[in-house]
Amino acid sequence: MNEIEEILNETDVRIQYEKLIDYLYRTISEKYEMEKCCDFQCGTCIANRLGKSVHDRNGCCYTKGHVCSHLKNGTCSIQSISCRLFFCSYLEKKYGKCHLSQFFPVKKVWNRKQRYFVEKSYFVDKKELVEKLLQLR
Ligand code: SF4
Ligand code: SF4
Repeated sequence: MNEIEEILNETDVRIQYEKLIDYLYRTISEKYEMEKCCDFQCGTCIANRLGKSVHDRNGCCYTKGHVCSHLKNGTCSIQSISCRLFFCSYLEKKYGKCHLSQFFPVKKVWNRKQRYFVEKSYFVDKKELVEKLLQLR
């Protein structure tokens, strides 16, 4: 059984959501890293270096004017799918928008409300996300 089949066949909903989040986070990360979208070098992304971002380092990992508390040693310490999907206007012009529903198992597992929540859940870690998704079933 491949990973997608495993997710779709999972009968425990909580475990199914966790598996889907892991799968999405890894797949999106691999895709962006392969294409070098943000192109991080020594704590600065491409938009930071080109002056296309309001900040000059740490990419766009800021909240209310401060560096996000989840950023540890230059790496995100939680698996926020919405942060992972996010493209700043510079990247959006270059690559277009990336939507959660583009990833195959998503529409099979999450309803519209759940998908909307996942797309907008910036800074939310996996545990919190799963709890909210269970409420939105
Ligand atoms: S989305 Fe844009 S601002 Fe954010 S890290 Fe990537 S290149 Fe930098
Ligand atoms: S939660 Fe979002 S903003 Fe914060 S470190 Fe992770 S990716 Fe960056």
